[in-house]
Amino acid sequence: MARILITSALPYINGVKHLGNLAGSMLPADVYARYMRLAGHEVLFICATDEHGTPAELAAAEAGQTVRQYCDEQHEIQKRVGAGFSLSFDWFGRSSNEPNRKLTQHFAEVLEDNGLIEERTSRQVYSVDDKRFLPDRYVEGTCPNCKYEKARGDQCDNCGTLLDPVDLINPYSSVSGSRNVEIRDTRHLFLLQTKMQDQVRKFVDQRAKDWPHLTTSIAYKWLDEGLIDRSITRDLSWGIPVTRGGQPRPGFENKVFYVWFDAPIEYIGSTVEWSEANGKPNEWERWWRTDKGADDVTYVEFMGKDNVAFHAVSFPVTILGSKEPWKLVDKLKAFNWLNWYGGKFSTSQKRGVFMDQALELLPSDYWRWYLIANSPESSDTAFTWESFKASINSDLNDVLGNFVNRVTKYAAAKFDSKVPEQGTPGEHEAWIAKELETRLPQLAAHYEAMEFRKAAAETRAIWAAGNEYITRAAPWTAYKTSVDTAAVGIRTGINLAALFGVIAQPIIPTAAKSILDSIGVPDQFRSMNPARLGEGGYAGLLDALPRGMPISVPPQLFTKIEDAQVAEWTARFGGG
Ligand SMILES: [Zn+2]
Repeated sequence: MARILITSALPYINGVKHLGNLAGSMLPADVYARYMRLAGHEVLFICATDEHGTPAELAAAEAGQTVRQYCDEQHEIQKRVGAGFSLSFDWFGRSSNEPNRKLTQHFAEVLEDNGLIEERTSRQVYSVDDKRFLPDRYVEGTCPNCKYEKARGDQCDNCGTLLDPVDLINPYSSVSGSRNVEIRDTRHLFLLQTKMQDQVRKFVDQRAKDWPHLTTSIAYKWLDEGLIDRSITRDLSWGIPVTRGGQPRPGFENKVFYVWFDAPIEYIGSTVEWSEANGKPNEWERWWRTDKGADDVTYVEFMGKDNVAFHAVSFPVTILGSKEPWKLVDKLKAFNWLNWYGGKFSTSQKRGVFMDQALELLPSDYWRWYLIANSPESSDTAFTWESFKASINSDLNDVLGNFVNRVTKYAAAKFDSKVPEQGTPGEHEAWIAKELETRLPQLAAHYEAMEFRKAAAETRAIWAAGNEYITRAAPWTAYKTSVDTAAVGIRTGINLAALFGVIAQPIIPTAAKSILDSIGVPDQFRSMNPARLGEGGYAGLLDALPRGMPISVPPQLFTKIEDAQVAEWTARFGGG
């Protein structure tokens, strides 16, 4: 049994996330966490809302709330929606909570003690009318790269280039719209990443063999271009105060740490929150301190490709630069974009379907299945209503739902709602056992390798093989001439239905539970431990449930999506 720490990139606090966000981090992280638990490992799955930075302040101002009120409310909403999608976080924390404040201030102190932080004067956009500096998104203007006229100070939404606000052409305040802005000097703390270049490269070299190509290509691109010293403070009031020796740092009373510095530290902070909430205040150390037992932890991070640089390079600068025994990431799984038709999902432009809206339309399993089966792993993929409908109607309704329904109903009608006891397996049972012998180890291998599309495809292939089996065995025809032969088919069918439920658990946990509970599958048969799934040979899986065990027919598992629904959703959300 291994110990696996899993974190998903922190969803930003400015509103409910869209399906692209879900597909690119939180959902695959959840599927992986569920699989690893089912395979018998000790898993800790951590996430949190990322609550600092200018977008939170701007969104709060727009909502007419204080930032604190706004974040309190949005955190609860995101937590509720995450639960609606069955995201099985062990803890869903907040980067604005006390543990992250303490840890962030601690890291800044030790980094400075180690000569990796220094105060520098930098040039910042100052709004004369607003009487304040305009960091990041508080300033907008024309992108120097692509000439898009509404680029934000930290990043151009059009071409994706990371920007410094002073680079913008024709800058204006996004607070007041005022163009009466000038460049003024201000003091900031700089993290001297240039000094860590060699150490970080060595770290990436060590890990590269375990990282997918998407991750290593981004990490090496940044390293090859050369790390730059980055400002880790901002002229803002909302955020983690800048301290030195435990006291407010002189000259930094109106400044806070930059959100990109404190957000990854919240992975640790959120674990501390979990630990305290469970009445074991030091338990987090077993996951994060290599001097306190975290040596044997495998740490796996999930994120979209835009976050890779911060996790593969910047956060390791913080960790390695501290010279303290903190756990570093072992495996870093990154995703491309799930697009909305040809374009991008967009929070700011409210384009696409958002998590709360999705749950109003259909149960979470429908979305979970589609998003994992179409996971944007090797390239960007596009959500379309048509492919969504086709996937749900075929994979979930026809291949899985109908199979479970048919065999359980037939057992209810002809075998007294019990797992049939009589009959001897023959050639058809040998055929399906052989299929399982090939496919189940492949399924486990895909999960181990974090290949989610392949895991979904293999899951579906196993369901399809079951359908093929029941067509060959045709117990309903056999019943007319030999009840024993029919009994073997239905017994095998019920055991397959149970197995289908077992392997469905990581991706569609609610439907899987419904199948397993209705059939009455005992807990010990619900594990996905690879050893158990091969125990006694694969034929054993076809006769695993106690013969004569009473079963019931599951409630309807899935409903087909109709053309009329697609038309209605297209009218409401666009697309098509
Ligand atoms: Zn641009």
